[in-house]
Amino acid sequence: MSPLVETIVVAGAGTMGAGIALLAAHNGFDVVLVEPDASAQTRALARLQKDAERLNDSPCVSRIRFVSAPEPVPGEAIAIEAVPERPDLKEAVLKSLCSALGPQALVATNTSSLSVSELSHAVPEPERFLGLHFFNPPALMKLVEIVSGEETNDESIARARSFVQRLQRTPVLAEDTPGFIVNRVARPFYLQAMRAHEAGAAPAEDLDTLARGAGFRMGPFELMDLIGLDVNLATSDSVYERTGAARLEPVQIQRDLVAQNKLGRKTGSGFYDYSNGAPTHDDAAPEVPGTLNEDEHVVIIGYDGIALELHERLSKAYANVELWQDEETLDRIPLEATIVIDIGDGATDRGWVLKALDSLLGPETMLFADAYATDIEAATKRLQHPERVAGYGILASLEHQNAVEIVDYEATSDDTLELAQELFESIGRRVVLLEPVPGLFLGRVIGSIINEAVTAVEEGVATADDVDLAMRLGTNYPQGPIEWGREIGGARLNRILKRLASAEGAAFGPHRALYILDAEPQPEADAGVEQVTGE
Ligand code: NAD
Repeated sequence: MSPLVETIVVAGAGTMGAGIALLAAHNGFDVVLVEPDASAQTRALARLQKDAERLNDSPCVSRIRFVSAPEPVPGEAIAIEAVPERPDLKEAVLKSLCSALGPQALVATNTSSLSVSELSHAVPEPERFLGLHFFNPPALMKLVEIVSGEETNDESIARARSFVQRLQRTPVLAEDTPGFIVNRVARPFYLQAMRAHEAGAAPAEDLDTLARGAGFRMGPFELMDLIGLDVNLATSDSVYERTGAARLEPVQIQRDLVAQNKLGRKTGSGFYDYSNGAPTHDDAAPEVPGTLNEDEHVVIIGYDGIALELHERLSKAYANVELWQDEETLDRIPLEATIVIDIGDGATDRGWVLKALDSLLGPETMLFADAYATDIEAATKRLQHPERVAGYGILASLEHQNAVEIVDYEATSDDTLELAQELFESIGRRVVLLEPVPGLFLGRVIGSIINEAVTAVEEGVATADDVDLAMRLGTNYPQGPIEWGREIGGARLNRILKRLASAEGAAFGPHRALYILDAEPQPEADAGVEQVTGE
């Protein structure tokens, strides 16, 4: 066991360095904050005082001592470098920290995008060097990624882990790969959202509504505006440059906005306009009618969880709801049915069901089909009455999905869309109309996040449990992506991603290990988390 570390040395008193210093002081450590720029010191002190007041711990600031260059400290130290993201500068700072603190110090970098192993060349004993990746703002974010370089030894990881726990933060262990866990697995949240937007799926505010409806604290567009489009793009660029993975390629609309200096809140516009303050939104659930609807006769075809759930929910809104569990007897569906919802299995194309229903039922019967699994556009070309078909997307259950995407195909009539909207609103779910894009919005975004998480686990970046923990604590996702994937199911996700890949390129396709989501037991859930702000 190493002796108790008493002094924390933080290099760089900017956004992250000052935040880490405060967190350490608040948890009883003496802190030396190295900052050569006098004006940066003054700004940092003012911020520290304000933030300490918020923590109800103003006295802790007295445990932080500013210096302009690293100097020896008593006992064993932990040094954390948090200077700007430039390899040459970081290496110089690491060298001067090491020579001032001696060989006993544990030395860490807070880099978001550089290779820890490459930076370790600046440290005389690279086995005591690792990444301690804090999130912004450190005082609120509960997660710290401990990044092991090629030469980091177990003792250093153990020291780092116990230090992070003494800061009352949750450590997760990540390999030294581009974006580590969080910044990598979160990429599709932004990239796929922008790709859907770029393809004309819907305005950013509608897509944000869908994302919040699926449980994300903020939608991808409002979150990028908050983080700063330039900062977010720099992270995407760095992960893309280092992985070369086509699925992670940054999106042109973001580059265009950055080129126009539309960086989000900080410049007054980005995906949203902030000239009259931040846009507000109303996510209240639609009011559920007090009386049962007797006009419609609803038939649900399906046998899985979604079919059973929809049957239960719709039975509270409609007087006539039937669950049709036998696909062999579609010809016995009552002709007076006004709405037929085909749930299917989520994993196979249901064009044949639409074709059968189209010939069996009169043109006034509306048909709603799972647009994640079925190529409805192709199917409707073979129908006599394509105007009565709308697509919907339900990923796993409506329990936590408060907004449903409904697809407005070229042939779909307004009456059909209105009825689809009325149906989902009658069970308290918001509806967002989408132009047809493969995987729709939630399917492609959540499916690609889960795919990235599975890929990271398969590549040995971290364990499945740590990936889930990291995404819940580091980005406030409503659940870990692996756990989420198990809930949705590997076969369903496979289908969504295969359709995405066949439309937009093989790079977006499912990882071959996605099937493990159907095989492994569900991990334990963890406690709630705080607000997220940045990368
Ligand atoms: P920042 O620009 O806010 O702060 C950097 C500070 O380092 C400045 O005050 C600067 O004066 C100081 N500095 C420059 N040269 C120095 C030197 N030789 N010695 C000591 N201090 C020096 O940057 P930041 O946003 O705090 O980022 C710092 C690091 O943290 C980067 O590696 C970044 O990738 C990483 N990071 C940032 C965030 C974030 O959201 N900002 C999140 C996680 C990790």
